Amino acid sequence: MDSEWDPNEKRNDPRCQICGGSCFRDKEFRNGARLRLCRACGFGETILAPEADSARAIYEDPAVTQRWTRLEEIRRREWERFFPDGLREGRKPGDWHVDVGAGHGDFCLWMTQRGWTSLGMDLTPRFAQRVRERGIPCVVASMLDLPICPGKVSLISFMDTLEHVFDPGKVLRQARDVLRPQGCLLIRCPNASSWSARLLGRFWPWWSLEDHRVHFSPQSLHVLLEQTGFQCVSMRSVEEPSVYTDLAIKAFSRGCHRLGLPRRFDFGLRPLILLPLRLLFFCLRPFQRWLEGTSRAAALVVTGRVQG
Ligand SMILES: [Zn+2]
Repeated sequence: MDSEWDPNEKRNDPRCQICGGSCFRDKEFRNGARLRLCRACGFGETILAPEADSARAIYEDPAVTQRWTRLEEIRRREWERFFPDGLREGRKPGDWHVDVGAGHGDFCLWMTQRGWTSLGMDLTPRFAQRVRERGIPCVVASMLDLPICPGKVSLISFMDTLEHVFDPGKVLRQARDVLRPQGCLLIRCPNASSWSARLLGRFWPWWSLEDHRVHFSPQSLHVLLEQTGFQCVSMRSVEEPSVYTDLAIKAFSRGCHRLGLPRRFDFGLRPLILLPLRLLFFCLRPFQRWLEGTSRAAALVVTGRVQG
């Protein structure tokens, strides 16, 4: 079985896999990993990615999955805002929605509540089990094993998962082959050309080189869709202020730890950090909405349709 964590899967191509460009800017990271960003299309690749097992271990960390639980309500509001019709347009009765990298099954559950028959796919058996416990079928499989119910699928979603493979083109071509004619594709991924990526540089949390192998800009994603047989129907960007409050809390806790302060001091003072930050983000909401209209917010939400 192919695996998105295959440690032997290394790219040595000196050209950008999206536009063929050969002019890059590099970012060096503390752990020895390097990020290569194409100057022409903004597509990024992680060079010297850590070995497979270390990437997989991230998902064994309860702190990571606890954060998903906190995010569920925020994500549901995002889906309701972006897909008020539950992506039902053009759906054929009896067709499937396949969510690739289902995680805890949040998106599958939201879609089944809107009348879809969803199927989850996840590489981690523990997550697949969790999805099944929520009443949704889920298979343990890599996204490179996508050929599943071909001809019966009218929507495939990649919610924060497509950035985990070295060859997203191969995955999307498989998705196109599985989808029925006029079938839909939904991708949510970090935006490597966002204002926050430029402002925070190496400290932008979504680089996450431990498990993110590629990094999309709006332009590179647009080209990738066309190359793999999809027509881009909509491309929007979304900001996620909760990530910045998480970062502030982490930095505060690290500072307390370095100063040797007791943990109760750390926990006791957290509200003093959180409250002003939440107030600030509330006041900045008009700016956030404006930013989301410019394709420069932190994440991209893209819908596509199988061409002709
Ligand atoms: Zn490029």
